[in-house]
Amino acid sequence: MTNVAGVPALSPERDHPRPNPGRDRPDTSSLASFYEQALDSLELGDPELHELLGDELARQHETLALVASCSPVSPAALLAEGSVFANVTAEGYPGRRFHAGCVNVDKVEQLAVDRARRAFGARYANVQPHSASTANQVVMTALLRPGDPILGLDLDAGGHLSHGAPVNVSGKLFAAHGYGLSPDGLIDYDEVRAKALEHRPKLLIAGTTAYPRTLDWAAFREIADEVGAWLLADITHIAGLVVAGLHPSPMDHADVVTTCTHKQLYGPRGGLILLGRSAGTSLPDGRTLEQAMQSGIFPLMQGAPVVNSIAAKAYALGLAATPEFAGTMARVRSLAATLATELARRGVRIISGGTDNHIVVADVLSSFGVTGVGAERALEDCGILVNKNRIVGDTHPASVASGVRFGSNSMAARGLDDQDVAEVADLVCDILAATTADSPRLDALARAQARRRVAALCARRPIAGY
Ligand SMILES: *Cc1c(COP(=O)(O)O)cnc(C)c1O
Repeated sequence: MTNVAGVPALSPERDHPRPNPGRDRPDTSSLASFYEQALDSLELGDPELHELLGDELARQHETLALVASCSPVSPAALLAEGSVFANVTAEGYPGRRFHAGCVNVDKVEQLAVDRARRAFGARYANVQPHSASTANQVVMTALLRPGDPILGLDLDAGGHLSHGAPVNVSGKLFAAHGYGLSPDGLIDYDEVRAKALEHRPKLLIAGTTAYPRTLDWAAFREIADEVGAWLLADITHIAGLVVAGLHPSPMDHADVVTTCTHKQLYGPRGGLILLGRSAGTSLPDGRTLEQAMQSGIFPLMQGAPVVNSIAAKAYALGLAATPEFAGTMARVRSLAATLATELARRGVRIISGGTDNHIVVADVLSSFGVTGVGAERALEDCGILVNKNRIVGDTHPASVASGVRFGSNSMAARGLDDQDVAEVADLVCDILAATTADSPRLDALARAQARRRVAALCARRPIAGY
């Protein structure tokens, strides 16, 4: 039976044996036949889309995804996301909905909230944000007034759009200021403090998209206190490491913590807002921070939540609390460290000299004479997916860049070991060494060889559960 986009094809006989007659067990075969029928109707009713889903599954099997901002979603989470919870409109919160029919919806949202609180050690969790960008917008619009100053890491230095970039609503609605990185690619807390004293932000944002090192939450807290700013920790990239205790948790340093559930939690596209000790903190208008976040999502920023996505979040957050997940995160970190070491051993300049998390940033321009975009294309042409990334002192715009960002989330999900990573480093260096600024594609023979090596590695190390 065909598999579509990682959703395991269910067979009533194999996966859900019918309950013994006379025993009081629910008949789960109806769920199985629902998905089976859905797959049939897609195949028969829309062969074009069916084929695209199949092609995408095959592409993901055959390529090595080293894009740091994603991870393969657990098949069971994909199934929950494709569930009939999509049919329910459920404005409000468990027990306080504006629509009827929410008996199971309430349970699934409460399950997700409880699991989020347990996984992150949070006092409060909101599982309704449609994305991490929305979560950040909620924090800003709930706590600030239009025109208030905010301070975050510059987009060019590895900050995120939603932290005040001029092209983003956060940069249009608020007076956004940025701090950069030191020449060795590290956050310079003295500069953060100096910028904070200069601009007196109402909100200080700590969070990164391309930063390979550990963040010092206590240092950010001290600076926020010095200028009387709220502190937002956006842990979107490192959420899994934080859950597993492999990166310090910001939970009791930051006033608010935001994350997505799809980058390092192997969950659906969506966001979370979390509060630690600060949940009961009073705002000038007398509300608590918890109340401000609750109404900041609904009705301030969003309407009805995506309940099917919340169901998938519940699955991912349950998984995140298991020893197996902690093991995966330990591999995420050790594989990234190995990749940095192996690339450096082959003469590649690694920004900041290594990594503490899942990210490795390489200066491909000085190492191979290829731009970031050239390297991205040459590697994709051979089945290795990365993204171009600006590096400290970059003279190229973001669309070209001098660096490349690697991430190890997918390598861990594929069960690669250190020897496999050494081979990945070999492949990357072989491909980039054969690439020149004038000719971003390898010659046909070298390309075919590289593709064969990537395909063999992918076949040997399939994505877990796919
Ligand atoms: C990716 C990212 C986001 C945005 O996440 P979406 O869910 O795609 O909106 C926000 N903050 C940081 C630090 C990110 O890396």
